[in-house]
Amino acid sequence: MTASTPRVAIVGTGVIGAMAAWQLAARGAQVLAFDSYGRGHDRGASAGESRIFRTVYKEGASYVPLLRRAQQLWRELETASGRSLLTLCGGLTIGAPDEPDLQAVRRCAEQAGLPHQVFDSTTAAQHFPQHRLDPGEIALHDPDAGVLRPEPSVQGALEAAERSGARLFTYHQVDDLTETAAGWRLSTGGTTYDVDHVVLTPGPWAGRLAPLAAVPVQARLITACWFAARDVAAHRPDRLPVAIRRHPEAGFSCFPVLDGVAVKIVPHHLGWPDLDDPGDLPRSASPQFARAASAAVARLLPGLVPEPVRISTYAEGFTPDEHPVVGALPGTANATVLTGFSGHGFKLAPVFGQIAADLVLHGRTGHDIDGLAPDRFTPHRSATRN
Ligand SMILES: Cc1cc2nc3c(=O)[nH]c(=O)nc-3n(C[C@H](O)[C@H](O)[C@H](O)COP(=O)(O)OP(=O)(O)OC[C@H]3O[C@@H](n4cnc5c(N)ncnc54)[C@H](O)[C@@H]3O)c2cc1C
Repeated sequence: MTASTPRVAIVGTGVIGAMAAWQLAARGAQVLAFDSYGRGHDRGASAGESRIFRTVYKEGASYVPLLRRAQQLWRELETASGRSLLTLCGGLTIGAPDEPDLQAVRRCAEQAGLPHQVFDSTTAAQHFPQHRLDPGEIALHDPDAGVLRPEPSVQGALEAAERSGARLFTYHQVDDLTETAAGWRLSTGGTTYDVDHVVLTPGPWAGRLAPLAAVPVQARLITACWFAARDVAAHRPDRLPVAIRRHPEAGFSCFPVLDGVAVKIVPHHLGWPDLDDPGDLPRSASPQFARAASAAVARLLPGLVPEPVRISTYAEGFTPDEHPVVGALPGTANATVLTGFSGHGFKLAPVFGQIAADLVLHGRTGHDIDGLAPDRFTPHRSATRN
């Protein structure tokens, strides 16, 4: 092991760890990547057929440079993996004009000078009849939005990493991590590995890793439901953009038909309950949940049969401010953490993979990640900021 080819262990190969492995291996690091489960598995945050990519970002205009770079890297990964991963079908945010998300996307579009179009309820009904809008509601259209394919994205990034020499250890849970004089020692299933640097990307399992004890990440349950389209052609990506729907009776993300059958919705208004541990993830939803999701579909998506044909559950890690934790791990040397992506990290994953590689190889990055610092929740740091 030499300073120019550091040996780096990645703990967790969901989408964030997979992208870090791809970027680090491409830049010459010796990568050992560990995961408790298989490539693209469905127990964490990085599976479920589809993810929204959007550029007009309700979470703030500060993300726009990261989103632009992420979009370029998604195209690079498509080339590197030979897979189609991102379809730019446009995106809608729908709701009342004074609804906070509608105000936030308008503010972002104006601050960052992003192309967008606002439809009133009448013109929205002409262009997007799949959605039922109430009088007075609006739809903001983001042309630089679309749909990502999570499982092939994770698998494509890991394969690209392996082609650059990374070693992948699936079904290897890292049980222990100890800082040493020269780097870190980790153990999995009774075998130990010594490395120069660790990249911790455990998603909702952050609370189980001892070095992350001070990083506040809460695991939560997110449920996705698929509803059969009466007219499948009208609900494919060439006619149905991705959408975020806000309404007094319901709220959900909405994804076009990708399986030839059904539109996926991820209800927001039914809550994303805390999980004591991601291992407690229930593998389906209650009849009450299914009925409430059906009611939202019957009210707002008239072209769907309002009873789910499929339901899946996932675990995601949330921070108190719902922005991820990205940076050097305080109080340690040679450890980088990227976790707590709080329900919106997938689209950004390739740029965070690049940031992980920058931090490991150079100790800094040209991307603006000041607002994501791991110590931002500690009292002394807040006092300094105030
Ligand atoms: C249903 C749902 C819908 C979403 N929709 C969107 C969307 O439309 N757009 C968007 O941008 N984002 C969306 N998100 C958020 C996004 O998908 C996540 O932020 C992102 O996938 C987080 O990836 P991750 O790698 O941090 O976590 P994960 O994918 O959970 O990966 C963590 C990995 O670490 C492994 N691991 C943990 N501990 C250990 C250990 N000790 N040893 C070995 N391995 C370990 C786990 O097995 C797991 O594979 C959504 C999330 C969910 C759940």
